[in-house]
Amino acid sequence: MEKAYKNCQSCGMPLSRDEQGGGTNADGSRSLMYCSYCYQDGKFTLPDITLMEMKARVRQKIKEAGFPGFLTGLFTRNLHKLERWK
Ligand SMILES: [Zn+2]
Repeated sequence: MEKAYKNCQSCGMPLSRDEQGGGTNADGSRSLMYCSYCYQDGKFTLPDITLMEMKARVRQKIKEAGFPGFLTGLFTRNLHKLERWK
C-alpha cells in the first residue's frame, strides 16, 4: 500500500493545500505522494526537471503566492530529502 505523505514528495507543497487533493495515478486513483501540479495520470508533469530547477520553481511559486521572502528558504531547504530526489 502507498504510504500517505503530508507533503508532495516532489515539490514539498502540503498536500492539504492542493485544490485537487493530490495528483492522479495511472488508474485514476488519487496519489498520496505527489500533488496535482507535479503528478498526473501516473507521470510527472515535468519528468526532466532537476532538483535545482524545482527549487527555483518552488521559490517562484511562493513569491507569486505573496509569502515573504524568508519563507522561500524554509520551503526549499528540505526538498532534497523528498522521495523523488533520493
Ligand atoms: Zn508537487
